[in-house]
Amino acid sequence: MLLAGDVGGTKALLGLFLDGPGRPELVDARAFATRDYAGLEEAVDAFLAVQPRPVTPLTAASFGVAGPIVNQVARLTNVPWVVDASAVASRFHVPNVTLLNDLQAMAYSVDVLEPGELAVVQPGRAVPTGNAALIAAGTGLGEALLHYVGGRFIPSPTEGGHADFAPRTADEVALLRHLTGRFGRADYEHVISGPGLVNIHRFMHPDGCAACGVEAGRDAAPSRISAAALGRHCPDCVRALEVFVSVYGAEAGNLALRSVATAGVFVGGGIAPKILPALQDGRFIDAFRAKAPMEDFLARVPVSVILNDRAGLLGAAVHAGMPRSLH
Ligand SMILES: [Zn+2]
Repeated sequence: MLLAGDVGGTKALLGLFLDGPGRPELVDARAFATRDYAGLEEAVDAFLAVQPRPVTPLTAASFGVAGPIVNQVARLTNVPWVVDASAVASRFHVPNVTLLNDLQAMAYSVDVLEPGELAVVQPGRAVPTGNAALIAAGTGLGEALLHYVGGRFIPSPTEGGHADFAPRTADEVALLRHLTGRFGRADYEHVISGPGLVNIHRFMHPDGCAACGVEAGRDAAPSRISAAALGRHCPDCVRALEVFVSVYGAEAGNLALRSVATAGVFVGGGIAPKILPALQDGRFIDAFRAKAPMEDFLARVPVSVILNDRAGLLGAAVHAGMPRSLH
């Protein structure tokens, strides 16, 4: 049996999977509010305690963790959890415990996702032996590379979300000036993330918005902005989401160029499935391709949105089931 986890600042999603060839088979998965537990071991205890049958020996455990990992120890950003792989290994007698960057964990799912778990943005022409890439906007912006090595993808984390935001239009140049004034510098996460959509909205729409129910000078919730935009309730909210989608496409294209992602670019994270109609209306892929002299190359790169909201957990399980030599 494999134990997998997707551990974020607010909740820890834990799962048990049967190991085997191909995709690990889910036995049970549950979410735990991190603030209700002193640490990961206590949450795993609670998870194992509610299993109807005794869990057969755990052969491996892997956890995607939202926070920097140093020597297999991670400090979470929003809760006072210290996640230590060796502590989990000794407490639950698991021989092989690994902490992964959360995007890296999600990247391990790419090999086993089924067509129904993906929404195609650009079919392209996949080179099966090429590299792939993952970009995922949610609370922050994560990017991972998937190097094709020895017949499978080997994911590699990056800090690409903190690379400098490169504006391409007059509106985006003005947005860059605004963000630099507020934050000192502007990285891609200041634009492509939940808080990033709020930043764009505040810049383009400073007088408040009846559709979002937000007063002048206040921040609207990202979900209210996207709902107002997708419902076409307010032209300025529509414009804010258009800038968000266009910059998202442009940075996905930058990632494709940097990784030579001829096997595909995957768009993960919590935001993409919620704004899918906006990602498929042409604006995202136009920005993705508009990089002369590389338009033909980028038109051949398949681009898909990951619809499975538990891809991070699944990827951690894929990692746990891999031969130890590949960890
Ligand atoms: Zn509005």
